[in-house]
Amino acid sequence: MKYEDNNMTQKGSLVVISGFSGVGKGTVISQLMKTHEEYALSVSCTTRAPREGEMNGREYFFLSREEFERKISEDAFIEYATYCDNYYGTPRSFVEEQLRSGKNVILEIEVQGAMKVKTLFPEAILIFIMPPSGEELIRRLCERGTESLDKIQARIDKALVEAESIDDYEFIVVNENVPECAAKIHELTGALRARTIMNRPFIETVREQIGSAESMV
Ligand code: 5GP
Repeated sequence: MKYEDNNMTQKGSLVVISGFSGVGKGTVISQLMKTHEEYALSVSCTTRAPREGEMNGREYFFLSREEFERKISEDAFIEYATYCDNYYGTPRSFVEEQLRSGKNVILEIEVQGAMKVKTLFPEAILIFIMPPSGEELIRRLCERGTESLDKIQARIDKALVEAESIDDYEFIVVNENVPECAAKIHELTGALRARTIMNRPFIETVREQIGSAESMV
């Protein structure tokens, strides 16, 4: 096996993206998908109500609590978590299929889910998107205008808790400017494909080749 063949058969990378509510994760991910076709975005299931303009199957699969809990019992999620009193979960079948086909799969999930993924997939890339400053985050949250004041307060409280977990991520990328932030994530994902954990079949083949050459000389 040559290195190029290894690259062709290499699985895609699992890219976990978290960040405070309002930091602009969605916009950054859209930019990444628009500029690079090797990414697939996992659409999560949730029990929260759709926001204005959201479509079932595009932003989320919107489920009732009963439907969500049935899926939990069927082991249909890689991970799931509760966030502001609603369930959110990552569908297993889509992620596994896309990784096998070589796509980099993006999971836009919160901290508890990210930590579960880190345990289940040690090769996953964990990125926390940061605002340029705390003040800027509060400004963006208030400007979004899609949430009531008490919901905004709940998200700020949640951000305070999430801020404690940033050290559990491997990388931070600051979202000062959307195209630059997306480009940074793409660079990181590309560079991290050189990790030994992503190249096991190639490394093993070279070891075997050296082993068989040794008996020939
Ligand atoms: P929102 O309600 O603003 O769309 O999302 C709330 C939080 O849930 C965000 O931090 C988002 O990243 C997270 N989230 C979305 N889908 C999933 C998922 O499948 N699993 C987990 N653990 N978190 C999710």
